[in-house]
Amino acid sequence: MNIFVSILIPAFNESINIPIIYQELTKELTKRNENYEILFVDDGSIDNTLEQIQKLASSYPEVKYLSFTRNFGKEPAIYAGLQHTQGDAVIIMDADLQHPTYLIHPLIDGFKEGFNQVIAQRNRNGESFLRSRMSRLYYFIAKKLVEVDLEDGQGDFRLLSRRAVETVLKMGERYRFSKGLFCWIGYDKKVVKYDNHIRGKGKSKWTVNKLIDHGIDGVASFNHKPLRLCLYTGFITLFLAILYIFFIFGGVLINGISVPGYFTTISSVLFLGGVQLVSLGIIGEYVGRIYHETKQRPLYITKDTNIVGKNVLKFKTK
Ligand code: UDP
Ligand code: MG
Repeated sequence: MNIFVSILIPAFNESINIPIIYQELTKELTKRNENYEILFVDDGSIDNTLEQIQKLASSYPEVKYLSFTRNFGKEPAIYAGLQHTQGDAVIIMDADLQHPTYLIHPLIDGFKEGFNQVIAQRNRNGESFLRSRMSRLYYFIAKKLVEVDLEDGQGDFRLLSRRAVETVLKMGERYRFSKGLFCWIGYDKKVVKYDNHIRGKGKSKWTVNKLIDHGIDGVASFNHKPLRLCLYTGFITLFLAILYIFFIFGGVLINGISVPGYFTTISSVLFLGGVQLVSLGIIGEYVGRIYHETKQRPLYITKDTNIVGKNVLKFKTK
């Protein structure tokens, strides 16, 4: 059975990698007898990523592209890509060659076996000690807070069936955390494991700040457990405070009022102040999200594309 596969590649400042990933992908794709398209989403790159893609597109009809007016982020790029792919199955992969192209075979085979999601799971070989520890800690906490089953090493690199793609597209939220959405939609999944690869060329676009932001998005876009946590902390502190007041009051009844108490006063003020600020911050996170969601702005703005309506040209390998 021949299928139509779309390869979706978000790219931000990846000019060196574009021709390489195209070559590597076609090398693998031509080993199979499938129809395919390769859709690059240029996420407002400031190097000549777009020119590189356009060069490919002018020579190879299977290369499609979509270019944003500015850098909107990888999540909007994935969303836009999913909206514009036509395949029976869509494989999402990075432009930086960290996602080995030979894995398209087990991914497509998994789809043919009938799975709606085939996930490529990496280990953390070669990653810096700090980053891998931080990620482990994050997944440990996130698993407790988020109701979906986030697995370490299972990122955006995966194959989604058309059905799964349509389901993901129904979720038009602004703060996107695709990894979580992919888990949330469920469906039958298959996991393919592979060894982590260090980045080919160019720099990682993730700064520590962006990673932390992404982590907070992950937890906050899935449930309101952190708000619940504020409530519990509030209850516990209140309960302890009442106990303490009784205790002090007993002391006053027995011994009369004594002046010292600076330490207890200052520590309770500081502690409660801290708890309140954290709680306000958490509430703020959610209010901010409501604010952004209600504005209903588009997730991205297209500057240029070679996709004309829904009439795409299918390209055959053999
Ligand atoms: N990317 C993007 N927009 C961004 C940041 C990244 O489209 O704002 C793309 C990037 O070009 C790459 C993929 O997302 O294809 C993963 O980015 P990166 O390699 O920087 O992330 P890491 O592998 O370090 O998680
Ligand atoms: Mg990378």
